[in-house]
Amino acid sequence: MEVKSAKFIISNTDYKKCPSPSMPEYAFIGRSNVGKSSLINMLTNYSKLAKISGRPGKTQLINHFLINEKWYLVDLPGYGYAKVSKKERNKWQLFIQDYLLKRENLYCLFVLIDSRLEPQKIDLEFINWAGEKKIPFAIVFTKSDKLTNHKIESNLAVYQKELNKFWDELPVNFVTSAVVKTGREEILEYIDGINSAE
Ligand code: GDP
Repeated sequence: MEVKSAKFIISNTDYKKCPSPSMPEYAFIGRSNVGKSSLINMLTNYSKLAKISGRPGKTQLINHFLINEKWYLVDLPGYGYAKVSKKERNKWQLFIQDYLLKRENLYCLFVLIDSRLEPQKIDLEFINWAGEKKIPFAIVFTKSDKLTNHKIESNLAVYQKELNKFWDELPVNFVTSAVVKTGREEILEYIDGINSAE
C-alpha cells in the first residue's frame, strides 16, 4: 500500500467524540519510549506526523489521523509512565479501556514491544488483557536495528514461550525498525489486506 495522504483529524479522551466509526481503524499502543511515534512516522512517511500529538498536553490523548481518505491510524497514549500518579494512571486506564472495548471500527490494535528487552510484566499484562477481551491485536517488535538477527530470533522465542503459557494461538507479529524501515511494507500490506476484505 502506498501512503498518499496522512492528516491529523482530532485528539480527545472520549471515544464517543472520536470521528464517526465509518472507516476501518488501526491503533498503536505501547510503553512510553517504545518507539511508537517513530514507527507511525515511518509507516506514513511523514517525518513529523506523530509529533503533532506530541505537543505538550496532547500526549495523553487518543489521536486520530486519516490515511488515504480511507482508514484511520490512531496514536494512543503510552502506558507505564513511572512518573504519573496512581490517580492519573487510573484515569488513563479508564478512557483507553473504554476506547479499546467500545470502538466498533477498531480492526487491529498494534501492541509495540521493544525487541531488545526481556518480556516485561506490564506488556504481558496488557497483551493478556487484550486477548481476554477479544480485542483484535498484533505485536510489533520495535528497534530491531539494534540487534543481530540471531538475537532478534532468540528474543522473539522467549516472548512466544511466555505467551504460550496463556494462549494456544500466538498473535500475528512484525519485526520493525524505524531507522532502517524494516517491517513497513509488511504492516501496510497487513492493513491493506484487512481493508480489502471489508
Ligand atoms: P514513543 O515514546 O514510543 O513515541 O517513542 P519515540 O518514537 O519517541 O522513540 C523513543 C526513542 O527511541 C527515540 O530516541 C528514538 O529515536 C528511538 N527509536 C525509536 N524507534 C527506533 C528504532 O527503530 N531504532 C532505533 N535505533 N531507535 C529508535
